[in-house]
Amino acid sequence: MKDLTDDVLVPISALEHASYCPRQCALIHLESVWDENVFTLRGSAAHQRADEPTTRQEGGRRIERGLPLWSERYGLIGKADVVEFDSSGTPYPVEYKSGPAREGRHESIQLCAQALCLEEMLGTDVPKGALFWIASRKRVEIALDENLRARTLEIIAATRSILQGTDLPEPANDKRCPKCSLLDACLPGAIVRARLAFDPFAPRPERME
Ligand code: SF4
Repeated sequence: MKDLTDDVLVPISALEHASYCPRQCALIHLESVWDENVFTLRGSAAHQRADEPTTRQEGGRRIERGLPLWSERYGLIGKADVVEFDSSGTPYPVEYKSGPAREGRHESIQLCAQALCLEEMLGTDVPKGALFWIASRKRVEIALDENLRARTLEIIAATRSILQGTDLPEPANDKRCPKCSLLDACLPGAIVRARLAFDPFAPRPERME
């Protein structure tokens, strides 16, 4: 088993932030900046309901809420909103998300990391899971395929690098920013304008979406 004593444990919740914007991940997990907006308030309310640890039986399935998760292999730690176990014992993680159903690209990374933990903890395959979108009460099944697993491993490595670093990543300053709860703390437009005023040939940040 990998020796993690020199590695930073990566909170599973940081992966969605890093996938969305590396600077957002650093501000939240390194600088402890957290501003509530309508999106995060919805998310907090959703997670408060799903976070309380409980076990119950429903329709032949065992449903665990607030299940602690970890992976020594990947250096992950976190908690699953809901994990359902069918009669064969196969785990099926369900991650609750605020707002109406979206593409869920970043959220799927978080779900896949939960599956990696469950596979290591329980020694069984986790081939799929689901995102549950609170506002539209829509459950979307996500295949935890090779592409998603490869992307998740990339984001885990990138997140560890962010958490081990000292410099804040460059601001995205693109269409992600208006929806970001950290917009007022981050000031992406002001930073980019100031940098370009100082050096008109300064590289502009890449647009990731
Ligand atoms: S405001 Fe934009 S650049 Fe700043 S953390 Fe949010 S998404 Fe990233």
